[in-house]
Amino acid sequence: TEEALNHAQRLESVGQLTGGIAHDFNNLLTVIQGNLQVLEELPELAHSSHGQRLLAAAARASRRGAELTGKLLAFSRRQVLQPAAVDTHALLHSLADMLRRTLDQRIRIEIDTAPGHPLVMADPGQLESALLNIAINARDAMPEGGTLRFRTGICDALPTDLRNEQNNPGSDGTTHFVAISITDSGTGMPDDVKERAFEPFFTTKEAGRGTGLGLSTVYGFVNQSRGAVSIDSKVGQGTTVTLYLPRQQEPEEEESDAPVAMEELPG
Ligand code: ADP
Repeated sequence: TEEALNHAQRLESVGQLTGGIAHDFNNLLTVIQGNLQVLEELPELAHSSHGQRLLAAAARASRRGAELTGKLLAFSRRQVLQPAAVDTHALLHSLADMLRRTLDQRIRIEIDTAPGHPLVMADPGQLESALLNIAINARDAMPEGGTLRFRTGICDALPTDLRNEQNNPGSDGTTHFVAISITDSGTGMPDDVKERAFEPFFTTKEAGRGTGLGLSTVYGFVNQSRGAVSIDSKVGQGTTVTLYLPRQQEPEEEESDAPVAMEELPG
């Protein structure tokens, strides 16, 4: 049933995709077909500057078509996740270092973490790219600079509105979550944008800057990881995106004075 559910969710997002994609492809094909048809009918044009422009436009359109299919494939392939215990604080500190080196210096990067080294069960590479996607959105929302803050916390249960059959283990409910939140002091999102932010290919960014796949990929990742994601945003104040991922208990300290089983004693 879990597989069926996954499948249903996937179909739903694929359904949302196809309309927009088919439309974009049609536009590109119209350019290619139209220009080639002109050249077919007037072959002498081929060497003129007008003919060269028609060819260049057709070539550009087919390159954009190829880019579009590339992105679609990357999206639908959704690599098989390989969950492992990830040290969230170590990951956040290395991400923050990288962002401090690469982002505009007017963006301050802060980390405010719970004590200890909370571990989450998630695919390490996918988790890193999810956080990076969110950080890039935060940067885009702060063109004049601002503050990007990472925070972690432990929670015993998911907020009720984020629970579903996959992340809610039921009555024995032993799952605890690590919440990782990323807060920016940027533009914030109006309600209509917030409502659609997780939709595949939904973007408010100009063509070539946004694909609209960032947050939908994050959404797919946390769901497959039995976690959840929420957005809290106020226009003019900023946005907080929070990822909830299942917590993995930290291993016992080596030098703990836990009783040792008799058969393990030497001699
Ligand atoms: P993309 O970044 O390519 O547009 P996303 O799926 O990552 O695609 O984001 C969808 C839209 O959600 C963005 O175009 C933007 O309008 C809005 N958004 C996402 N993150 C933020 C943020 N931190 N602040 C303001 N708006 C945001």
